[in-house]
Amino acid sequence: MTDCIFCKIVNKEIPAAIIYEDDIFIGFLDINPRSKGHTLIIPKEHFERYDEVPEQIQEGLGKVLHSISKQLIEKLNATGFNILSNNGESAGQVVKHVHFHILPRYGEKGHSLEAAFPIDEQAKEELQQTYNLLAPLQPVNHMKVAPEGIAHKEENKEKQENIKNEKEIKSFEEETYLMDQRDILPDS
Ligand code: 5GP
Ligand code: ZN
Repeated sequence: MTDCIFCKIVNKEIPAAIIYEDDIFIGFLDINPRSKGHTLIIPKEHFERYDEVPEQIQEGLGKVLHSISKQLIEKLNATGFNILSNNGESAGQVVKHVHFHILPRYGEKGHSLEAAFPIDEQAKEELQQTYNLLAPLQPVNHMKVAPEGIAHKEENKEKQENIKNEKEIKSFEEETYLMDQRDILPDS
């Protein structure tokens, strides 16, 4: 895209501190770093949002994010890192070429998710309805849903109807999370 600033970086039409490049992705330092080593990873091809990125690019992205995060942490002696992608104006996306922020973090305890995203009380109240609306999502084509996972889903439905107070909702959340982790098993 001719008027896209990140496409211009890809095409070397404007300068950037490019620290990683392969056939499909580049990584460069953010011009306004939110931490030392704040890096942006982008596909060279222009897509506006992550949900528009085709499968073969998505697959490489996971590996690239992993490798670059690891190298940043080691070279900068960071103690942690955040990976973040803003998609759409409602999510705060400013540059309309899909990108992933890797933010190395330092020291012992930094601000948590809460600082950027305070708890949405209405979403919390609607947790069960949201779960009902979503579960189960379609498995990714090369993954399979474990039969015991489906059984857990049935148990969950019964439990949801009985949940009354916040404490129970909390333990339900944790349990559901754990169950959902078990539901999706890679091909053996
Ligand atoms: P967004 O808010 O869209 O997720 O983030 C866009 C990011 O791109 C911001 O962190 C901003 O500092 C960075 N950025 C915008 N323009 C440029 C540029 O020309 N060069 C570099 N290196 N980063 C940029
Ligand atoms: Zn672009």
